[in-house]
Amino acid sequence: MAYDTNNIFAKILRGEIPAFKVYEDAHALAFMDVMPQSDGHTLVIPKQAQAENFLDIQPADLQHLIVATQTVAKAVDKAFAPDGMRIIQFNRAPGGQTVFHIHFHIVPVYEGMELRGHSRDMAPKELLAAHAAKVKAALA
Ligand code: 5GP
Repeated sequence: MAYDTNNIFAKILRGEIPAFKVYEDAHALAFMDVMPQSDGHTLVIPKQAQAENFLDIQPADLQHLIVATQTVAKAVDKAFAPDGMRIIQFNRAPGGQTVFHIHFHIVPVYEGMELRGHSRDMAPKELLAAHAAKVKAALA
């Protein structure tokens, strides 16, 4: 499948749709997932690489992306103090992928709290804004 430049994350990168951004560097952008599986669920995407998934991204682009993911994951950990954390990445629709611009999920895990479903419930904008502010503060 050819990379679709009209996928939702490409639109976020072009500023065509809004996102609660928390981190940006020369190669990567991170923002809150609008349907978070837990409080603090954050996504990290490459800015220039037009890659769908883990299998077609160039190694150099992947290196930047995974290092940015660790930077943001540490900030999410500091901001939310979860008991655990999942770094997740889905490939192709049968693998669970729904947006075809490669991304890593940072999903905090809280003991005794079930994760919410993948891509299920939209969180209120005010809550996402508050969570983004917490991650940004932890990165400052
Ligand atoms: P995938 O299934 O492709 O690994 O995950 C895509 C993720 O993007 C899902 O967790 C979903 O909740 C999230 N998502 C879908 N549309 C949007 C959107 O418009 N904005 C943001 N911030 N996240 C989105």
